[in-house]
Amino acid sequence: MTAAAIAKPPPEEGRLETGEGRCHVIGAGLAGLACAVALAERGRAVSLYDAAGQAGGRCRSLFDQSLGRPIDNGNHLLLSANQAALGFLDTIGAGDSLTGPPEASFPFLDLRNGERWTLRPNNGPLPWWILFSGRRVPGSRLGDYLSGLAILCAKDRDTVTDRIAAKGPLWERFWEPLTVAALNTAPEEASARLLRAVVMETFVRGAAACRPLIAKQGLSDSFVEPALGYLRGRGAEILFNRRLRAIEDEGARVTALDFGAERRALGPADSLVIALPAPGAKAVLPELDAPLDTRPIVNGHIRLPRPVSLPGAGPVLGLIGGTAQWLFLRGDVVSLTVSAAEELAGLSNETVAERLWQDTAKALGLDPAEVPPIRIIKEKRATFAQTPEAAARRPGPKTRWRNAFLAGDWTDTGFPATIEGAIRSGQAAAKKLANP
Ligand SMILES: Cc1cc2nc3c(=O)[nH]c(=O)nc-3n(C[C@H](O)[C@H](O)[C@H](O)COP(=O)(O)OP(=O)(O)OC[C@H]3O[C@@H](n4cnc5c(N)ncnc54)[C@H](O)[C@@H]3O)c2cc1C
Repeated sequence: MTAAAIAKPPPEEGRLETGEGRCHVIGAGLAGLACAVALAERGRAVSLYDAAGQAGGRCRSLFDQSLGRPIDNGNHLLLSANQAALGFLDTIGAGDSLTGPPEASFPFLDLRNGERWTLRPNNGPLPWWILFSGRRVPGSRLGDYLSGLAILCAKDRDTVTDRIAAKGPLWERFWEPLTVAALNTAPEEASARLLRAVVMETFVRGAAACRPLIAKQGLSDSFVEPALGYLRGRGAEILFNRRLRAIEDEGARVTALDFGAERRALGPADSLVIALPAPGAKAVLPELDAPLDTRPIVNGHIRLPRPVSLPGAGPVLGLIGGTAQWLFLRGDVVSLTVSAAEELAGLSNETVAERLWQDTAKALGLDPAEVPPIRIIKEKRATFAQTPEAAARRPGPKTRWRNAFLAGDWTDTGFPATIEGAIRSGQAAAKKLANP
C-alpha cells in the first residue's frame, strides 16, 4: 500500500506542540485510530496502545490459509453519506481505496422466487423515484412509502416496528433489511431514532448520499495500514500487546496507566482517550453506565472456482428470503453477511457454511453440489444491541477526570455503531481533549 506515502505531509519542524503534553490513546480500532490521527494532525504527541498484536479491532483484514486469500473479519458497507469516514481516508492518504458503482444503486434478489430489482434513489432531496412503479420496490405502493415517513417522527423510546408496520413488500424488501444492516438489531427491538438518523443522512438527501462503497483491497488496506503509516510519519508511538488493566488517578486527574507488566506515568499536561469497546471501558471505569448487551454478525467467505460478476457489475447484492442478507464480491472471493445473527451464531460452522453456500449457489447460478472452501467468522459481539434503552445509556466523551475522554462506536454519537460512528467518536474525543 502506497497510500501512506501520499498522505498529507507531517507538521512543519517546530510545530509539534510538546508543551501540550502527550495524548495516550487506548484501543487501536477505528475510534482510537481516528482520535490518534486527529491529534497527530493537530501536531500533538501521541501514544497508541492495543491489547491485540495488530490494529483495526472489529474492522480488519486477515489472510485465510484455507482460502489462500486475504479476507476481512466481516463485510463492511459504507455509504457516500459517511463524511467522517471519507474525510478520515483522505487525511491518511487512502481516499481512493474504496470502490462502488458510479451511482447509488442497490441490486436485490429474492432467493425464493428469483425476482430481481434495483433500488435507485434519485438525485436531490425530493424522492420522486417512489412515484414511478418501475422504480419502486416490486409489489410496493406509493402509500407504503408515505406511511414509512413515520420514522422521521420517531421518539426516543420507539422501536422501528412502533413506527412502521412490519408487513408487506416494502417492509420485507426495504425497511427490514435497512434496519438490520444499519443497526445489527432486529427491528422489533431496534431504536427508531437511530434508524431515523441513517435515513436523514442518506435517503432524505438523495442519490449523492446513498452510493454504496466497500474497501477495494480490504479493510486493513483502506482504514488501518494507512492510518498507522500516517501516525508513524508524525512520530507517534504505537504499542501492540498492551492490555490496559487499570487506571491510577489523583482526584480529577489520571496519573498512570497500568498494563500489567508495564506502568506508564502521565505527566501533568498528558491526557488519555479510552477508545475501548464498552465492556473494556467499564472494566477500567467501573462507575460507567454503558450499553453492554451485544448482537452478533456472522460472515461466510467463499473462494469461487472462477470469477463471477454481479448485476450492474457492482460489488454488492442484497438478498431476500434466504439466510444471508448481503453478498459482497471481491475478485474470486464472495462473502456473505448475516446481521442480528443470534440464531445462526449458535449453530455449528458446518451448518452455517452449508446454508450460506446454498444462498450463494442460487444467487450466482452455481452447482450447489460443488461445495468450495468456506471460512465462517462469527463476531459474537459485533456491535451493541441498538435498542432505545441502550441508546439512552450511551455516554458522551467526558469522564470524571478532566484529562481523560471516551471514544468508541457505543458512545453517544447520535449515529449507529458503524465505521462512521466510530470515527466520529474518535474525532469528538480529540476535539474535547483540545478544548475540554
Ligand atoms: C462483522 C462486522 C461487520 C460490520 N459491518 C459494518 C458495516 O457494514 N458498516 C459499518 O460501518 N460498520 C460495520 N461494523 C461495525 C464497525 O466495525 C465498528 O463499529 C467499528 O469497527 C468499531 O470501532 P471501535 O474503535 O469503536 O471499536 P473496536 O474496533 O472494537 O476497537 C477497540 C480496540 O480496543 C482493543 N482493546 C480491547 N480491550 C483493550 C484493553 N483493555 N487494552 C487495550 N486495548 C484493548 C481491541 O483490541 C480493539 O482493537 C461491523 C462490525 C463487525 C464486527
